[in-house]
Amino acid sequence: MKKILTLLILVSASFLLKAQGPHLSGKVEVVMATGQITCDFVLSNIPDLGKDYQILLNKGFNVKAIKDSLNNTISYDGFYNGKMRGEGLTYIPQNGNDVLQNPKKLHISYTGAFPIYTDTLNFVDFKGLIAFNGKTLRATDQSKWYPIIYDIKNDRQIEQMTFNIEVTSKDSKTIFVNGDLPKTGPVASFKSAIAVAPLLFAGDYGIQKTNNALFLNTAMSDKQLAVFEHNIAEIKAYYSKSLKIPYDTKNVFIEHSPVEKFNKGRSWGFVSFPVIAFAGLKLGDMVDEEHSKLKDSTNYPFIAHEIGHYYFGNVLQPNATLFWFFLESTAEYLSVKAAEEKFGKPFAAKYFQSRAKQLKDFKAIPLNQIKDMNSISGTYRYTYGPFLLRGLEQMIGEKRMFKFLNTCLTTKNELTDYDFFKRNALKSGISKAEWDTYEKDYILAENAVSLIK
Ligand SMILES: [Zn+2]
Repeated sequence: MKKILTLLILVSASFLLKAQGPHLSGKVEVVMATGQITCDFVLSNIPDLGKDYQILLNKGFNVKAIKDSLNNTISYDGFYNGKMRGEGLTYIPQNGNDVLQNPKKLHISYTGAFPIYTDTLNFVDFKGLIAFNGKTLRATDQSKWYPIIYDIKNDRQIEQMTFNIEVTSKDSKTIFVNGDLPKTGPVASFKSAIAVAPLLFAGDYGIQKTNNALFLNTAMSDKQLAVFEHNIAEIKAYYSKSLKIPYDTKNVFIEHSPVEKFNKGRSWGFVSFPVIAFAGLKLGDMVDEEHSKLKDSTNYPFIAHEIGHYYFGNVLQPNATLFWFFLESTAEYLSVKAAEEKFGKPFAAKYFQSRAKQLKDFKAIPLNQIKDMNSISGTYRYTYGPFLLRGLEQMIGEKRMFKFLNTCLTTKNELTDYDFFKRNALKSGISKAEWDTYEKDYILAENAVSLIK
């Protein structure tokens, strides 16, 4: 009985922990015609990080004021010779000459204008850019369009939060903040009682719906929608069956024009769960209506990769040195497994053969020697990392591999470093001897590609 009670307390305590993320409230104004974004936010329920925190905000914004819970203006560091963290400038509220201890609640107002790319395009577009293309605005969590708390001790950005905000955009037909449903402009309120990373997508676009998903800014036929729906449902069913963790959330697909000039046929996608956004392609064009399938089978793992971020990115939120490995290599590996399930073993074999050619001269820093998360390059995380996971699968078999992934996914609030990798491998039933062999042959190899058969 006592045991059960303790267990109950533990369960409710961990639930509380999860519910205790920050809460964002306030107003946003977006002017599509000028690219100006003005925010007046209160960030409350800030976790008690003592003095070990920073506020991150996109470098394109100018802070009007940071105020305390009594609405008194407070001073902050970062307004001069500020330091960057990714896309954001870091601000540190001050109390005299010291960091303001555990503020719990802050009122932050700021404004900034961003270029509108129509005929003249940028040299790059990526998830961290606040992108106006004349028709829509896209601002993700990575862009830091809303204040994000950085937890210094745990090296983690707290992007996910509950929110209740009002968005005004006089020249937008539809406004969407993920965590809530898209709404008709020019003024709409959005809230989420579950912590998510709010992505803002506003502008002149419409909405299409199926059982498993919402599609924003698409113009698909009923047939195209049905094929899409079928593929999404199939991928989700495969993942939840293999990983033994349910996938109940509806995905939101966004289609929009990149602000970078793309050669024909090039496109990219990103995830800000549950949003899956694509730039530079028309989703409907991916469908072969006559045969009710995707025209190009490689689009199947492309979509499966993004859908897989529900697990690696949302269920498990990576941090620490193996951030990129546990975010991207895992999602990419899962996507190959989904495609292998659908198209058979030769598909995966071909996938790894063609990537092996790209990695001919690649030299990997062994995962246990990674000191800085960003030393896992794009090639490492998307192309080489999946080989390391495939290598483990090759050693222990598919069933135990999914057991290992499930073990990682059900481990909460830990640093996703090399120890995490090893600890969960052993916890999932991989023997010490197996791990040592794996480490020696795959991890420590500068290039283990030739070991994948
Ligand atoms: Zn990804």
